[in-house]
Amino acid sequence: MKIAQFVDEELTRFYGVGAFYRIHTIDDLIGHLIVGLAPHTSVGIIGRVIGFINSQVCLGSPIWHSAKRRDCDGDADSVMLLMDIFLNFSREYLPDRIGGLMDAPLLIQPLVFPHEVQRQAHNIDIDDTYPLDFYRSSWNLEKTTNVIDNIDIVKKRLGQANQFFDYKFTHTTDNIMLDESHSLYSILSTMEEKLKMQISTAKLINAVDADEVMSMVLTTHILPDIMGNLRAYSSQSFRCTKCGQKYRRMPIVGRCLECNNELTQTVTRGTVEKYVQTALNICSEFKINEYLTNRINTLQTELSLLFKQNVKDQHTIIDFI
Ligand SMILES: [Zn+2]
Repeated sequence: MKIAQFVDEELTRFYGVGAFYRIHTIDDLIGHLIVGLAPHTSVGIIGRVIGFINSQVCLGSPIWHSAKRRDCDGDADSVMLLMDIFLNFSREYLPDRIGGLMDAPLLIQPLVFPHEVQRQAHNIDIDDTYPLDFYRSSWNLEKTTNVIDNIDIVKKRLGQANQFFDYKFTHTTDNIMLDESHSLYSILSTMEEKLKMQISTAKLINAVDADEVMSMVLTTHILPDIMGNLRAYSSQSFRCTKCGQKYRRMPIVGRCLECNNELTQTVTRGTVEKYVQTALNICSEFKINEYLTNRINTLQTELSLLFKQNVKDQHTIIDFI
């Protein structure tokens, strides 16, 4: 509401034209166009406000969420009023670093073609009942591909008019609000806390194999994180803490060439090592396959070579005898 009022004030007072939103209550925003934008994507997707919910969550069509590159996993997301972007977006305001460009609506997609979004959205079931055969098949642990023929999913409607509407559901409710108004993901602050919660949840669910979950966490998050930071560390630049001058390599004098101040690293040892212990703990507590365990151990060896435990000022030839 505040942004809508700001936009109206901008239009009338700054541009000298008529107000656009003219809202008095929050419900006056219903029907207006918004732009959904997920972090690090740069492409905003147009949507329309159809209501509000008292939770820190944005409910929308799976097609819309998928177009934003969100897979409904409770990660960060944002919406903006379209008129706000038309009036106030400019490349002139953006920071010149790549990070500043990543969270800005550089492009806006007005229409989404359902066949162009991610596969996950196509696999959402939109039937109002599951046939008895489905339950029998699930009891016999049959493959999903064997039972999907009897259930309506988004994929089957692609190219037809009802690919956009008439999505059904199996259970009615008079309230789609959740008991929790915030996702734990946004409350837990450290990676360790989030991981601990993920482990305890995985252990509670019979259908989830906690060892497999931890292997995935290692493969998709922790290992790439350590390797990425290791690469960043060894190719890092140096910065002057006083005048801010940056150096691609450490100058031979070892100090700032502008003001003779000491230089500091832009990537620290702590950044590289922060998840190593977590990775080692996971390997000892869970059944992680040998290949993955070896990769972690190799990384640890690599790090111990990079960061000498007892730093000596200068090696002498005697050290190597
Ligand atoms: Zn300096």
